[in-house]
Amino acid sequence: MATMGSLIGLVNRIQRACTVLGDHGGGGGGIPMGGSPIRRSRRWTGISGKSSVLESIVGRDFLPRGSGIVTRRPLVLQLHKTEGGQEYAEFLHAPRKRFTDFAAVRKEIADETDRITGKTKAISNVPIQLSIYSPHVVNLTLIDLPGLTKVAVEGQAESIVQDIENMVRAYVDKPNCIILAISPANQDIATSDAIKLARDVDPSGDRTFGVLTKLDLMDKGTNAVDVLEGRQYRLQHPWVGIVNRSQADINKNVDMLAARRKEKDYFESSPDYGHLAHKMGAEYLAKLLSEHLEAVIRAKIPSIIAMINKTIDEIEAELDRLGRPIGGDAGAQLYTILDMCRAFDRVFKEHLDGGRPGG
Ligand code: GDP
Ligand code: MG
Repeated sequence: MATMGSLIGLVNRIQRACTVLGDHGGGGGGIPMGGSPIRRSRRWTGISGKSSVLESIVGRDFLPRGSGIVTRRPLVLQLHKTEGGQEYAEFLHAPRKRFTDFAAVRKEIADETDRITGKTKAISNVPIQLSIYSPHVVNLTLIDLPGLTKVAVEGQAESIVQDIENMVRAYVDKPNCIILAISPANQDIATSDAIKLARDVDPSGDRTFGVLTKLDLMDKGTNAVDVLEGRQYRLQHPWVGIVNRSQADINKNVDMLAARRKEKDYFESSPDYGHLAHKMGAEYLAKLLSEHLEAVIRAKIPSIIAMINKTIDEIEAELDRLGRPIGGDAGAQLYTILDMCRAFDRVFKEHLDGGRPGG
């Protein structure tokens, strides 16, 4: 698994390079990483605890929270597991500036959102790219998107409902993207917009993970066992139930560690969910996603090699056309990407060979 971990790290670096080159996931320029298996996306709708889930996976409080439309640009979040040392965060738009104060990360996300959209309720499809380096995370790339809305509120263009749906769809349409469909347990799953859109773009449910939040807020006398055991709405992957911090917990500054302990206690002592306790909670969800990502990458290695070979050929041809050597930044970038492609290619081939008996 150590090899696979480093593969994911390499994929993350290449994806970052692609964003620099202007591939915002819409299939634009740069290396066609739209075909990569690592784009991982989350979307959901309504007040469903989505920011809370993302924070739990990371184990840190760092997202702007509040009522109304807070997430107004895609947030591409890359988690990098380190062997130790201090946790820190880095934004692509402010390279070399290390954030160790996660409250400052939250402020920077809000400021950077405003920088493009102004202090409005408008949205933008230009992503914010954030990396978190920590010994306490699993290697994952998550994309946080604005939630779907039903009506434009005061200060929003009439087109916003459609704009958000188009943006979300552009991400979740991609066959390689994994969908975290988050719904609150205190609402009927049949009315979940997250599940509706997920089913639309992923009818087989192969790449959809259903997440149920707010199990603690269900009406007394009811429970979500039917959903969690897949009897109400069947997905290929198991449903995961979550208990996030309540607003009162947030107001009391209950920290992440305490929240996780509380969540664990909740499941272990629950008469309804006790038998499912080992398959519930934010930590289990993170583990599930990481394992799935590794399986996907493993399955895609041959087609990734083909893609890389094609890309190398294209870049070589481009270099020939431009004439080498090239001065200036554009040339330097092309060389860097070419080097990365070769490294990528080599690592994958080594991995493949290593995986074959006698190979
Ligand atoms: P988002 O708008 O979907 O990103 O949702 P947030 O994560 O910001 O949560 C919205 C509100 O719901 C906050 O006040 C949270 O404290 C609360 N909340 C979210 N998940 C849970 C949960 O599992 N249990 C309880 N009791 N409250 C939750
Ligand atoms: Mg939120």
